[in-house]
Amino acid sequence: MSKIRYERPAIRKLESSMPNKFGLKTEYLPMTNIDGVNINELINSFGSPLFVISEKTIRNTYKKAKKALITKYPKVQFAWSYKTNYLNAICSIFHQEGSWAEVVSGFEYDKALALGVAADKIIFNGPDKTEEDLTKAIKNNSLIHIDHLDEFYTIVELVDKLKKRPRVAIRVNMDTGVYPMWDRFGFNYENGQAWDAMNKIMHSEKMDLVGLHCHIGTFMLSPNAYGVAAVKLADLALSLQKKFNHEISYFDMGGGFASRNTLKGAYMPGSDINPTFDDYAETITTALLNSNFKKDKLPLLILETGRALIDEAGFLIGTVISNKRSSTGKRTTILDAGVNILFTSFWYDHKITPAQPFTHYSEETCIYGPLCMNIDVIRENVNLPLLNKGEQVVIHNVGAYNMTQWMQFITLRPRVVLIDENRNPHIIREKETLANMVDMERIPEYLKKFEL
Ligand SMILES: *Cc1c(COP(=O)(O)O)cnc(C)c1O
Repeated sequence: MSKIRYERPAIRKLESSMPNKFGLKTEYLPMTNIDGVNINELINSFGSPLFVISEKTIRNTYKKAKKALITKYPKVQFAWSYKTNYLNAICSIFHQEGSWAEVVSGFEYDKALALGVAADKIIFNGPDKTEEDLTKAIKNNSLIHIDHLDEFYTIVELVDKLKKRPRVAIRVNMDTGVYPMWDRFGFNYENGQAWDAMNKIMHSEKMDLVGLHCHIGTFMLSPNAYGVAAVKLADLALSLQKKFNHEISYFDMGGGFASRNTLKGAYMPGSDINPTFDDYAETITTALLNSNFKKDKLPLLILETGRALIDEAGFLIGTVISNKRSSTGKRTTILDAGVNILFTSFWYDHKITPAQPFTHYSEETCIYGPLCMNIDVIRENVNLPLLNKGEQVVIHNVGAYNMTQWMQFITLRPRVVLIDENRNPHIIREKETLANMVDMERIPEYLKKFEL
C-alpha cells in the first residue's frame, strides 16, 4: 500500500468575492482523459501547456444545433465563423458537416478559398473589405454583406469596371431589447438607414440584393432578441416585395448563441442556465413562420454560429509550476498556461478540473499563469483540491476565440492536438519556435554588433 499524502491543515476564511459564501461546487472527480486519451500521455507526447480539441464533440454539437433548427424550419444553412477558430483542421470538420464559410477579412477569405470552399459559398462580412478584396469577391460570385454606404459606392464603381453583377446583402442593426445595442456594424433599422440602403441598391440596378443579415451581439442570454430581429428583417423584406416586387432569398441571423461557459459574476454555472440551441431555434423560426411570407417563398435561414459550436470541444491542459500563499494566506497556484493563450479568461470563469486523483481537502485557490504580469490570472477564486508541482489541470470550454485571439507574448504558443473519433491524436498546429518568431524580424546592419 502506498503512503497517504500529508496535507498541511489550514484555517479557511470565508471569501467575499464568491457568488455565495460556500463558493461553487468543487469538482469531485478528476478528468484523467479526453475522449479516452490519457492526459498524462498527451502531455508526455506533445508537451505542456497543450490545447486539445475533441472532434467527436464538434460533430455532436453541430448535429444538435442543426437538428434544433431543421425540425422547426424547412431551409437551414450554417456558415462557419472563421474568426472563432480558423485552424484549417477545425474549419474542415465544419465544411465536412456541410457548413459554408463566413469571413470578415481578406486573410480569412483567402484561407477559406485555399481550403477548397467554393467561392459562392463564402459569406464576406465586416467593415474592412478593401477594393482588392471586393474585386475578388465580385469576380468569384461570393456573397458580399455590405456594412456601410462607402462600401456600397465602391462596389458600384467596381461593377462598372468588372462588368459583373454581384450578389449582395446588407447588414442590419437594430434594437432587440438587449443593451448596449450593437449598432456600429451595418445599417440601422429604426432610423431608416437600412431601408435607405435597400432602396439605393434596388435603384442602382447594378447588383442583386439576395439577403438580409444581422448579428445582434454575442453570448446572447435572451433568445427572444432573435425573434425581435427576425420580425424586423421580415418587415424589410416584405416592404421590398411590395415596392419592387423583389424577393429576398435568405435571412442570415448571424451568430451570438451562448456556449456552456460561465460569465464572470454569474450566480449559476452557464452549463445549468444558458439557453440551448432549441431555445434560440424556437424564437427565430416562430418569428419567420408567423411573418407574411407565402409558404413557397420562405427565405433560407442562414446561421453564423461561432462560439456555441466549438467552445465545449476545446480543452487547455496546464501543468502546476508552483504553489504559494499570498500575503493574506490565500492559496495560489501557478500554471504554465497564461492569459496570453487564454484570452477568454477575461470574460469567463472557466471550469478547471484536476487531471489526476486527489484527496478530500479543498480550498479557495487563485490560479495564476506563468507570465511576469500582474494581470495573468486564470481564475481569481476557485475551490480546488491541493495540486502539487508537476500535476495537471484541464481548463474547459476554450474552443472559441482562444486559438485566434491568442498572442505571442513572453512565451511561445503551444501545440494544438485534435483527437479524432477513433481516439487518435493529431497535431493540427505545431508549437512556435524562436526561429518562427525571428524569421519575421529584420535587423539593420549597424545594430548587428555590440560589446558589453
Ligand atoms: C463573430 C461573428 C460571428 C460569430 O459569433 P459568435 O458570437 O461566436 O456566435 C458571426 N457573424 C459575424 C458577422 C461575426 O462577426
